[in-house]
Amino acid sequence: MYTLKTDDAAQYAKPYCACWSDTKPMEGSPADLCDCGEDDDLIEWKWEPPVRETERWCQLSLDRSKITFHPIFSSGTAAARSDAPLLIDHHYYWEVKMLTRCYGTDIMVGVGTKKVSTTDTEFKFVSLLGQDGESYGLSYKGKVRHDGKFTPVPAGFCSGSIVGVRVDLWHGTLAFYINRKPQGVSFYNLRRHPELYAMLSSTAAQSSMRLIYAASWRASLLVDAAKVLAASWREGMELPPGLRKALSSQFWLGLPADVGSDDEDDDEIEPVKPMNADTSNLVTINNPLVDELFLRTLFSVYFQNREMILKRQRRMKERIWMLDHPQ
Ligand SMILES: [Zn+2]
Repeated sequence: MYTLKTDDAAQYAKPYCACWSDTKPMEGSPADLCDCGEDDDLIEWKWEPPVRETERWCQLSLDRSKITFHPIFSSGTAAARSDAPLLIDHHYYWEVKMLTRCYGTDIMVGVGTKKVSTTDTEFKFVSLLGQDGESYGLSYKGKVRHDGKFTPVPAGFCSGSIVGVRVDLWHGTLAFYINRKPQGVSFYNLRRHPELYAMLSSTAAQSSMRLIYAASWRASLLVDAAKVLAASWREGMELPPGLRKALSSQFWLGLPADVGSDDEDDDEIEPVKPMNADTSNLVTINNPLVDELFLRTLFSVYFQNREMILKRQRRMKERIWMLDHPQ
């Protein structure tokens, strides 16, 4: 139904959501038709403003989430990077929504070090990300690239597609998602770079994309414990308040247990179950040293924000599932 006819290389590319027709957002479509999650408003970083000389190659929206490459015409490759580096031992997940048609030499989403110039290719049409060992990219044509080598992945992307990037700087891995479907771990050993940034590149005139989600968390026992605890909630628990902000913004921490469902077509908000069926890999908390107050507080906040969290859950369900099921 949402299939987009484009060139052969991106033949499997599709928009993510019913809020998009083949080529553009649907006018006046009811908000509840949209599952893109653009109003979730969790964006921890922005795109860096372009250097002065290259403004005509790349325009940023005022909030620096939306970027338009080659706003007038294209005579080469423009690129952008995030305004903050990815930190070692942290996990990152961000999503970029394609707002315009993907065509031409290349449009790429990925990561790179500061050594990747965003201006050297102004007059060259190239697949910028992955040209050498300093960057990694996913092409709209359905290929990942690093160190000059392309490797195919199952699908490309087009206007209306949501491209997700998960960088795990605890294990040093990089995985891409297209329309929230995992494409597998594409690259390893990313911890060798002292500094990495989120990056975009495009050769296409008036190509536009928006950062719709960007979250991070530090790998820690606390985080692992919190996930276990959230999955262990039981009806009837009455607990003290706290951690409201963390729970309302960190979807991966505070969600109830049924996010592990494999049923991709199930859009219903399911009742909260005491235990997730898919908790076989979770540690049982029998250790008296585990801070019980923390646990109780966590659940308490969940209850106080239950309605809001359940609302978010529908949109976040797929994201959680992906994060808990690394390929
Ligand atoms: Zn949508």
